Amino acid sequence: MGIVVQKFGGSSVANAEGVKRVAQRIVNTKKQGHQVVVVVSAMGDTTDELIDLANEVSPLPPARELDMLLTAGERISMAVLAMAIHDLGHEARSFTGSQAGVITDAEHGRAKIIDVTPGRVEEALAEGAIAIVAGFQGVSQTTKDITTLGRGGSDTTAVALAVALKADVCEIYSDVDGIFTADPRIEPRARKVPRISYEETLEMAAQGAKILHLRCVEYARRYNMPIHVRSSFSDKEGTWVVRAEDVVTEEITMEAAIITGVAHDRSQAKITVVGVPDKVGEAAAIFGALADAQANIDMIVQNVSAAATGLTDISFTLPRGEGQTAMTALARLQDTVGYDRLQYDDSVGKVSIVGAGMSSAPGITARFFQALSDAGVNIEMISTSEIRVSVVVAEAQVQEAVNAAHAAFDLGSDEIEAVVYGGTGR
Ligand code: ASP
Ligand code: MG
Repeated sequence: MGIVVQKFGGSSVANAEGVKRVAQRIVNTKKQGHQVVVVVSAMGDTTDELIDLANEVSPLPPARELDMLLTAGERISMAVLAMAIHDLGHEARSFTGSQAGVITDAEHGRAKIIDVTPGRVEEALAEGAIAIVAGFQGVSQTTKDITTLGRGGSDTTAVALAVALKADVCEIYSDVDGIFTADPRIEPRARKVPRISYEETLEMAAQGAKILHLRCVEYARRYNMPIHVRSSFSDKEGTWVVRAEDVVTEEITMEAAIITGVAHDRSQAKITVVGVPDKVGEAAAIFGALADAQANIDMIVQNVSAAATGLTDISFTLPRGEGQTAMTALARLQDTVGYDRLQYDDSVGKVSIVGAGMSSAPGITARFFQALSDAGVNIEMISTSEIRVSVVVAEAQVQEAVNAAHAAFDLGSDEIEAVVYGGTGR
């Protein structure tokens, strides 16, 4: 009889009916003899609605108060979930992140967990109760203020608690049956991946696949906590995220899949600094200013300078939400750096192929690019890692690019496997 941590996302508890369905599922796990700790997200689109509300009240809400507001979403779901479990004849106790011992740094809106001291959760378990913890929140060690871990952070709460409690597994429930070879919303032939390594999952998540919070996967990898990603709407076995060696042992007899999946991201923008003098220190000045503006730069391409002019163009991508601040920071540099002009393009998207097998398989990039070419998709930028190739394309061609790559690497299943059970995709 071990400890199981179960995390339910907002779409699983979108309304009263969802809350009751999830309560039944938790009780079933408990009846199987497990000690159950539940981490829950805010109901449906509550977090987005609270952000909208804050923006209606104030153009620039103070970060401390915004965190206080947003954590209310998870408080609602944890309390109603506990009520629903009581109605099924079992004891459940809800805890805020702070009560559950989730200690963070003081960075509002993107706090990092630095310690988990779940004494009250352990007490509840020892007394036979089901513990329910509000996801995505903690308390700062220094300021004692309430913090949030960043959008989607409940996954990280769940893994951190699972590690602290030495749970057997961290189950993450959402509205799809696991991790797929592509987003089933745009690739109907997407296939469920039975097992995937932490490293591949990190690449997929970092490249925009909305599967798991990035930090939750890093945390799980560091402490080797297996994650089972599955749907709260079905009983199907989902996807196990485990160490690379544990993926290989099971599939050693099958022809190794070179590409595990295709990820896409529509949340980026591209900035081009046109006509940068090709001399020492220019890139340092440009990216120094962007760093000061807290921009998270992703792909960078610098062209070879034209011999006649000695000028070059530097393009990079970054999250769209940071685009305007970055443009302002760069505009201030025009006189010192002496570039020609800036170009801003937010109708771009990124498509990536990810697979641990690609480092030892030649020709992968060529096959990917040929598929894009056959589909009439123009590549604007390219970047690679050991286990990934990414391209930036026009946003309008993202879906075609995903479909083309998916087909080129034979990732599709013959039947339609993927069911999207809920969620508004917001
Ligand atoms: N409710 C928060 C959000 O929507 C946290 C989470 O869902 O994990 O981002
Ligand atoms: Mg949510």
